[in-house]
Amino acid sequence: MSAGGQALSGLAGAADVAGGAGAGLSVDGVRAAYGRIEVLHGVDLHVPGGSVFALLGPNGAGKSTLLKVINGRLRPTRGAVTVDGVQASPWTPEALARAGVIAIPEGRGVFPNLTVRDNLRMWTYRGGISSAEVEARAYEQFPRLKERRKQLAGTLSGGEQQMLAISRALAGETKLLLLDEISMGLAPIVVGHLYELVAAIAAGGVTVVIVEQFAATALGVADRAGIMLHGRIAHEGSPQEMAAAAETAYL
Ligand code: ATP
Repeated sequence: MSAGGQALSGLAGAADVAGGAGAGLSVDGVRAAYGRIEVLHGVDLHVPGGSVFALLGPNGAGKSTLLKVINGRLRPTRGAVTVDGVQASPWTPEALARAGVIAIPEGRGVFPNLTVRDNLRMWTYRGGISSAEVEARAYEQFPRLKERRKQLAGTLSGGEQQMLAISRALAGETKLLLLDEISMGLAPIVVGHLYELVAAIAAGGVTVVIVEQFAATALGVADRAGIMLHGRIAHEGSPQEMAAAAETAYL
């Protein structure tokens, strides 16, 4: 983790915030629906600042929907989301940016028709750091991206696109990073590298929520974990406890 930790020294500001009272993520009594069909039936989740929470669960349990509520893409019908002590729902884009919430969606969050370099430069508005610095941080973590900096992001391999997407969290004052199934379709060695970076980002003070269906690697970097079933967090505990619980709950 040392390389990641050094490269992430720029996230120290986030660490300061994360250490304060009310730091981290709180989800309280959240209910959410698509039309008339409620899919989250009262979710409570508390993730301390600078820690990693792995959210597991079978298809359709509501994991992605919960991330959508947390990052403002779906308005809850009840309940509240709080990031670093600030009530977050419903979000405005400005409030989201101020709060430093970054979501890497299932299927990746890159602009396919822009080059790697231009993707990285897109994100410099966040924390006010220069585009050169954003590029340098990303290339230090992922030399592969440097080799491919002039290539269109849409033509990168799946793993390379995911590296690029996660580099977004290096670009500014990130406080909360939401990752949805980032390992899908990737080779285990690539997944291992991505999660090493995730652990380093969290060590820099960023709160991280990881959603994964098959989660051995995610559990390896998580401080705590939960299992979502039918729109509720049905089990919560240590990664080891949740690995065992997942076996009986749905695997
Ligand atoms: P997976 O692991 O398969 O991605 P998940 O736990 O992330 O599953 P969600 O994607 O949150 O589950 O879906 C929860 C429920 O909400 C499912 O029954 C799904 O069909 C439904 N759902 C999700 N998105 C929509 C939508 N845009 N419109 C209507 N229903 C939806």
